[in-house]
Amino acid sequence: MIKQLNRNQLLQIAASSNISETCPECSSLSCPGWVSVPGYFDLSKMKVLGTLVDENAPECWDEYHPQGTHLWSENAPISIQHHPYNRSDVRECMGCKRKFLHYTEYGGYYLDQRIRELNIKLII
Ligand SMILES: [Zn+2]
Repeated sequence: MIKQLNRNQLLQIAASSNISETCPECSSLSCPGWVSVPGYFDLSKMKVLGTLVDENAPECWDEYHPQGTHLWSENAPISIQHHPYNRSDVRECMGCKRKFLHYTEYGGYYLDQRIRELNIKLII
């Protein structure tokens, strides 16, 4: 069972994120905004710390962009009640403790693993 995280816990995790530009595991990932996980990248090198999925919350596919950002924007706010954050889990690079958000986009004919660095300044 993956631990469900609330906003305070997410803030704590984000505050403990440690960005190492020389990490052999994750320095190849540049993802201030959402990106598709590159094929060469092994997601199993990231430990799952918890999930933002609330099984009891009503389904919500709305995104939150009050400042005119969009899903892929590097400055898009992280609103945990809104899509895709409400489908995301929180991961930690085992090499350097950098924290990430991750979710799976289910398209008609494909699965897309997406990842975004967890930036405390964008959590609203
Ligand atoms: Zn790392």
